[in-house]
This record gives sequence, structure tokens and C-alpha cells, in this order.
Amino acid sequence: MIDEVMDRFYRIEVPLPNSPLKELNSYVIKADDRNLIIDTGFNRTVCFEAMQKGIHALDIDLSRTDFLITHMHADHSGLVTRLATETSTIYFSRIDAQVYLDEGIWEAMIDYAGMNGFPADELIKALQNHPGFKYSAKTIPELTLIGDNDLVEIGDYRFQCISTPGHTQGHICLYETEKKVLISGDHILYDITPHIESWSYQVNSLRNYMDSLDRVYDLPADIVLPGHRSFFSDLKGRIDELKKHHKDRADEVIDVMGKGTKNAFEIAAGMSWDIDCETWDLFPIAQKWFATGEAIAHLRFLESEGRLHRNTDKEVITFTA
Ligand SMILES: [Zn+2]
Repeated sequence: MIDEVMDRFYRIEVPLPNSPLKELNSYVIKADDRNLIIDTGFNRTVCFEAMQKGIHALDIDLSRTDFLITHMHADHSGLVTRLATETSTIYFSRIDAQVYLDEGIWEAMIDYAGMNGFPADELIKALQNHPGFKYSAKTIPELTLIGDNDLVEIGDYRFQCISTPGHTQGHICLYETEKKVLISGDHILYDITPHIESWSYQVNSLRNYMDSLDRVYDLPADIVLPGHRSFFSDLKGRIDELKKHHKDRADEVIDVMGKGTKNAFEIAAGMSWDIDCETWDLFPIAQKWFATGEAIAHLRFLESEGRLHRNTDKEVITFTA
């Protein structure tokens, strides 16, 4: 489905089968000299066909089209290699590129999951079922790296890049000052809560996320265009809800912890998740992986707040209240 968001500014809805996100919003801006496509969908046929159809319907010439990727996740970046042409500029977060271009990253994540109690015999299966691993771009094109405060201009639109680490370390939102439009990527979603994960205790991604919510709180945005599902206008109201959600989640982690000692995988198994499964054991392996990453982010946050202690003397990292 395609709709016109503003003058010469469109959204293509790209289906994401089997993902709780349901679809990706790819934004397309047409201008006289160049076009810009913001985010692209997974590198898989169903997404590619939806993009082809949209591009055709909007009469977009890809040889005069540039791309901007809000963050490295495969549902946003996966198709860029197949859509870009030799003359395309691909704007990509400088910080996310460090991870995106690191070929050893999956191995490091697997080791890390194991250190956090993820069952060793399920690690390889978890990786093979990870959508980011399955549906990422197979070759990496040349990237034009961007960061906080950079400007990207297309036709009548001038977007200011706002660094919003949390969902990924290099996540970028785009703000059009004059038209008061915020393209929020996966930093702020309306219908669902953005996933916050951590795969390193060096990074306090939930703390970063909360700070990044504050970074965009006072923007006088009339409309917010997220990476998935519905547009919305009450930016402050939505940010307040997200902050409360994570505060409640952190309290839930403390409850699950009780007086004992637990690792992140055990904490994830005890938390409540918005998924159609009766028990933790029935969760698809990829969802267990995401849940564990989210538990780690909350544990790291609680540690930094002085509410939990991290024990690193054994092979598997644990926490104690
Ligand atoms: Zn994402």
C-alpha cells in the first residue's frame, strides 16, 4: 500500500511476514533532480516485490535516487544493496556502520548470549533464526556516513539528523524544522514499544534510550512518522508512555529477581511478554533471543542505578538484588 503523507512525500508499506512489527514504513520523497528513499525492508522477496511495486507506482527512477537508513537493523537496511544504483548515495549512521561492517559481530553476540545463560545447544539455532542474520544485505555498498546535526536536503525538505542512541547505538531521527515533521525510525513507535537490547555490558542502552527520548521531547513536531505502523502527533504524550513502560519493566525485573541470584536468560523467562505463547518454552527461538537481549538492557540499567549487583566471577554472569 502507498499513501501520500505530504506534498511529494509518500509511504510504501513493506510487509514483514512473521514479525510482530507487521510492516515497515519506507518513506519516499520525490524532487526534480534526485529522489530520496528512507529505509527499505528485509532482503527477501516479499519485501523486494512490495518496494518494486511502490517505486513503479510512484514513477521513481532509481538511477536518480539516494537512500537514507535510520539504523542498521535488517528490516531497514536489508534491501538497500538491491535497490541502489551506481549513482546512488547511501546515507548511513557513522556509529551503526562500525557494527554493520564488523563481520565478527554475530560470533561476538553468540558468545555474549552464552555468557548470559542462553542455552549453549540453542545458540546456533538462535542465530540461524535471527531475522537480522537471515535477511540482511549480502553485499555492502559504499556508504556515506552521517551523524548528529548533519543536514540532508531533498527538494523542499531539509532534514536535520538527530543522534538518538538506544534502539541501536547509532540510531538517527530526522527532523524537518520548517514543516515540523519528525521521522522517528524505531526510536519512537506508536502502536508498539521499540525493542531495547544490549549485547555488551560496556553499553547501557536503556539509559541511552531514556536520554534520547529527552533529546527529542521538546521538538515542536506536528506529525511523527515512525519506522513501523501508524503516524501520530502527540510526541510528548507518547514519550511519557514509553518512559513509564520502561520504569515499570525495570520494577518487574526486580520482582522477578526476588532475593535470589539469576542470569539474564532466567530473568527473561520470568518476565511477561506480549506474544501469543502460553509458556516461555513455547516461544520461538528468535523471540527468546530478543527477550534475553531486552532483559540484559534492563539489568545493566538497574545495575547503573545501584539497584542490582552484577556477579562476574563465574563463567555465566548473574545478578543479585
Ligand atoms: Zn530496528
